[in-house]
Amino acid sequence: MEERAPSEVVFDLCVIGAGPGGYVAAIRAAQLGMKVACVEKNERLGGTCLNIGCIPSKALLESSERYLEASRHLRVHGIHVEGVSLDLEAMMQRKKSIVEGLTRGISFLFKKNKITRFQGYGRILSAGEVAVEEPDGTKEIVRCRRILIATGSEVAIPSGLEPDGRHVITSTEALELERVPRHLVIIGAGVIGLELGSVWRRLGARVTLIELLPRILNGFDHELADAAQKSLAGQGLEFIVGARVKSAAVRGDDVFVSFVDSEKKDQEIQCDKLLVCVGRRPFVEGLGLRGLGIALDDAGRIAVDDHYETSVKGIFAIGDVIAGPMLAHKAEDEGIAAVERMAGIAGHVRYDAIPSVVYTSPEIAAVGATEERLKEEGRTYRRGTFPFSANGRAKAMGQTEGFVKLLADARSDALLGAHIIGPRAGDLIAELVIGMECGASAEDIARSAHAHPSLAEVVREAAFGVDDRRIHL
Ligand code: NAD
Repeated sequence: MEERAPSEVVFDLCVIGAGPGGYVAAIRAAQLGMKVACVEKNERLGGTCLNIGCIPSKALLESSERYLEASRHLRVHGIHVEGVSLDLEAMMQRKKSIVEGLTRGISFLFKKNKITRFQGYGRILSAGEVAVEEPDGTKEIVRCRRILIATGSEVAIPSGLEPDGRHVITSTEALELERVPRHLVIIGAGVIGLELGSVWRRLGARVTLIELLPRILNGFDHELADAAQKSLAGQGLEFIVGARVKSAAVRGDDVFVSFVDSEKKDQEIQCDKLLVCVGRRPFVEGLGLRGLGIALDDAGRIAVDDHYETSVKGIFAIGDVIAGPMLAHKAEDEGIAAVERMAGIAGHVRYDAIPSVVYTSPEIAAVGATEERLKEEGRTYRRGTFPFSANGRAKAMGQTEGFVKLLADARSDALLGAHIIGPRAGDLIAELVIGMECGASAEDIARSAHAHPSLAEVVREAAFGVDDRRIHL
């Protein structure tokens, strides 16, 4: 293997990983005047989010929703469409071109910000040196003053359920299927299970989700999760909750999934595709953490201090490799905060104001405390709810399913949590995130003008509801 001399340039920062955490950190660091290198093993920038996660899944969610709309839902608008058919190849091609366009966009931003990109596998040799093994086997040493680990996460695979990429698959393959499965069984009714289950259900597959816990969407407010389950079941998704999957066996072209149901009875279910999506785990393989003595927390994630610095001075970490929700926007915010702190300015992430969005139909979005958490903590709170069915814009759109629920401190009226299931919930949550960031009260939301007719009026009405003075109900 050819080994080149260490880089002449000493970079101020070497970012390892060009997902949303890493590439955003690299850009922000460059804006702050740092000389930045970014090491990424894949040819395309953007990480899981852009290449095999958020973006391709959203493209397919959008396309599959249009398909369903054209096939069934336009009728209520007085529009009759005959002979709707599915061109899955074209749908996949559209997804591919969206991904390619966005990844090219990051390359453009790297050039614009004079970030030096190294393509290859990064291994940390010391706090000032990263070895990059390039695809042709050449090894290059990047010298730098600081290192930021932003290597993200990989799919967690329970034993006995190892994917073969054909019959037993992960989200990566579930975004690339060449045919609509006859029966897709999904292990894990979390975010990926519900989003990809929705895609393939809309395109015609029978979809069954097997969830370990008694309720889907672990971590979400129970009222929201129950409403989501009811709505998705109405769309034909089948749920088996409280069930533990034991193993899966491929026989011929079918997969036989054995599980113990909620009544402790052994069951078997047959399908042609089995999607395993029971969570993700930090991806730190080959980084050389152990040799460097970088401390991990109890869950195997990289431990960092308030400045995102690891136990080794000069080496920092953000995103899915450290504690907290595995979300692209959380990684981005941490990336920005970490490099701002390196530059001596006060970067900050407020962890109780990070929204979560599930892009099903209706969408599901939440920020802050759930009602269960407030009860557990013994906090006194007031709640206000409002249904989309009493909103003019939602009626005009024909999307009246769902509600907004706001939780506010009983004494100070400060917003503590917001939970939305309904049309455009993922966009509507933004005002509540800002509200929480700025210490807003429910009264502040209620006193702010919300355009009429808009979906945001449902948020305002829920804020009125906290004070028991809803107007339109
Ligand atoms: P998840 O944590 O959202 O859901 C996994 C589900 O699997 C949980 O409900 C869990 O109880 C269940 N489970 C665990 N072990 C099981 C078993 N043996 N049998 C049956 N069920 C089991 O994880 P995910 O859906 O795989 O998503 C991975 C990560 O990606 C998450 O952190 C998620 O936030 C992120 N993601 C986010 C978005 C988004 O923001 N819209 C979309 C996709 C993925």
